[in-house]
Amino acid sequence: MRFLRSGLHFHKSGKQTPGFRLLSAQSASTIPTQPLFHGRTDGSHSLRTYLTYKNERFSHRWLRDCCQCPACVHPSTLQKLHRTTDIPGDIALASEDSVCQTSTGVSIKWKDGHHSEYSTSFLDTYSKTDRSAVFQPRPQVRLWDRQAIEQTPDLFVDFRSLLHSSTRYSQAIEQLAHYGLLFVTDVPNEKTSDMDCELRKLAEYIGQLRRTFYGETWDVKNMPNSRNIAYTNVHLGLHMDLLYFEHPPRWQILHCLRNRVHGGKSIFVDSLKAAETLRIQYPSHFEALAWIPVSFHYNNDGHHLRYSHPTIELWPYPADDAPPIRYVNYSPPFQAPLPPDTPDEFYAALKTFVALLESPSMRYEYTLPERTAVVFDNRRVLHARTAFTDLDPAGDAQSSTQEPNRWLKGCYLEADSILDNWRTRTGKMTP
Ligand SMILES: [Zn+2]
Repeated sequence: MRFLRSGLHFHKSGKQTPGFRLLSAQSASTIPTQPLFHGRTDGSHSLRTYLTYKNERFSHRWLRDCCQCPACVHPSTLQKLHRTTDIPGDIALASEDSVCQTSTGVSIKWKDGHHSEYSTSFLDTYSKTDRSAVFQPRPQVRLWDRQAIEQTPDLFVDFRSLLHSSTRYSQAIEQLAHYGLLFVTDVPNEKTSDMDCELRKLAEYIGQLRRTFYGETWDVKNMPNSRNIAYTNVHLGLHMDLLYFEHPPRWQILHCLRNRVHGGKSIFVDSLKAAETLRIQYPSHFEALAWIPVSFHYNNDGHHLRYSHPTIELWPYPADDAPPIRYVNYSPPFQAPLPPDTPDEFYAALKTFVALLESPSMRYEYTLPERTAVVFDNRRVLHARTAFTDLDPAGDAQSSTQEPNRWLKGCYLEADSILDNWRTRTGKMTP
């Protein structure tokens, strides 16, 4: 399996030369006389350009570049102190016996006189069979449909325990990282201003607010003469927010402040599940959606935002047959006119994909009660809302009072802030 399109390629099934001893971390630490590394045994000394650890080959150049000694990685800032390009391509061991086991790992003496140190945990991390866990900066995706998400034990967390229990906090972050959907109950709804609201407190507790031209927080109220389709009471189909940005916000929170209407049910769908199903069942449709860009735009209220994304956006690596899906981009209300020469295959592919998205078994439906907030991955989880009507059939609430009858307060979070918490609070840090 290759991890990089060019440059250094990692091979997962390296031939094991007879005579190599491959030790586990435990046995290495309890048998200090056994070397952890083994050089190539065939060929002359000058050809030995790598060392083997736990069945993985590490080139001399890579090892020298990744030296973890205090001269190479600053002890307090943990910043690297040399450039990769500073390491000569022909860097070599000082001698046959310059690889030594230490109490914490391994030391290596190099021909240029440098003395490197590597901890056992560092070497273990980079010898993992599944290197994607190290190099792909994201948690493992767990695909879901309605039945699967209903069975996740941490779909709901109450606000107080999120604030006061580190266990519940970690569970909530894990839920978001793996499934992209979390409900927080009992979030107070008395304060409604942008600066004082509990939404801000929740947002800053789990991540970092992302400001957009809508502000740091914004309101979705049932109000007339709106510029945005979300501000009216009609059915709002499955969509994602702000795809007309180059970097649409990753996380979104909607906090229900008022819900005094009939209807207005929220619907959530895991678009990655639908896209993976498409890949298996209709590979040519998947291919079309992965390569044909769609433009999204917002041209109103003194703003003109516009950007194009393919409906299914793939990671550029690994460069093999089935690169993982990075994002799904689907937002019909904000779609700009397609290019007139858009091929027929695109229309057919989109129709098939939408049929999968709209399948009843895929939809998790929930009417947000007052004081509940939903947190979701806006690059993965589509959201929709059914139409609603006023509880009082005599007339519109907003015409008789200033108080909206349905009011969600929302915000976006920086992508990295949640993943930062995921790594630090759940112990997923990489040396
Ligand atoms: Zn060093």
